[in-house]
Amino acid sequence: MTTATSARPFLVHAARLRRSVGSRQHEVRRGAIEDLACSGSRVPEGSEVEADVVLESVMGGLSVAGTVRAPWVGTCRRCLEPAGGVLELPVREHFTEEGDGEETYRLDDGEADLEPMVRDAVLLELPQAPLCRPDCQGLCPTCGANRNLEACDCAPVRDDRWAALDALRVPDAAGPGYPGQAPDHPEVLPSHGRPQEEDLQGEGP
Ligand SMILES: [Zn+2]
Ligand SMILES: [Zn+2]
Repeated sequence: MTTATSARPFLVHAARLRRSVGSRQHEVRRGAIEDLACSGSRVPEGSEVEADVVLESVMGGLSVAGTVRAPWVGTCRRCLEPAGGVLELPVREHFTEEGDGEETYRLDDGEADLEPMVRDAVLLELPQAPLCRPDCQGLCPTCGANRNLEACDCAPVRDDRWAALDALRVPDAAGPGYPGQAPDHPEVLPSHGRPQEEDLQGEGP
C-alpha cells in the first residue's frame, strides 16, 4: 500500500466521501511531477510539489479547493543571476465522472487524481520573466557590471521612455521652474465642466 501511494501520491480514494453530499475530507499530498517548466522558469527536477486541499462531496462529483505549492528556479531577466521562489496558488476545481480535463477533472471509479489539477495550476503561474528580487537593478548596458553588487562610472544611457516624456514638456520650461509641475490654467475648464455649472445654477428651492 505504501508503494502504491508513493507511485501516485496525488491519487485520492474518494468513493466513501462521495456517498453523502456535503461531507468533506482534508488531504495534504506531496510528490514530484515531471516536466513542470515554461520558457522562463521550472520546478527543479525531483522537487516535491504540494497540494493542500479540502475535497467536498457535491451533486455529481467533488469540489476540490485549497492551495498548491511548488518551488521554482529560473534566471533573472535583468541581472541574469539565479532567481527562484515558491509558488503558492489557490485552486478551486470540480471533479466529475465525465471530467474532460478542461471544465472539470476526471473522477475514475471514485478515485480523484489531483496531479493534472496541480500540473495545470503550476504551468499557468510559473514566471515567464522572473526577477531575482522585485527591485533588481540589472546589468549596466555599457560595461555589464551587476548594479546590485557594484556601482560603475558609465554615463547613464538614455531610455526611450524618457524621450517620450520630454515630448510632453512645456516648451518654455527652460527657466528655473519646478520639473513636473505644470502651470495652472484655471480659466481652461474641461468641456464637460460648463453644463455642470449651468445645472447647479438651474437648481434651487
Ligand atoms: Zn536580478
Ligand atoms: Zn557600467
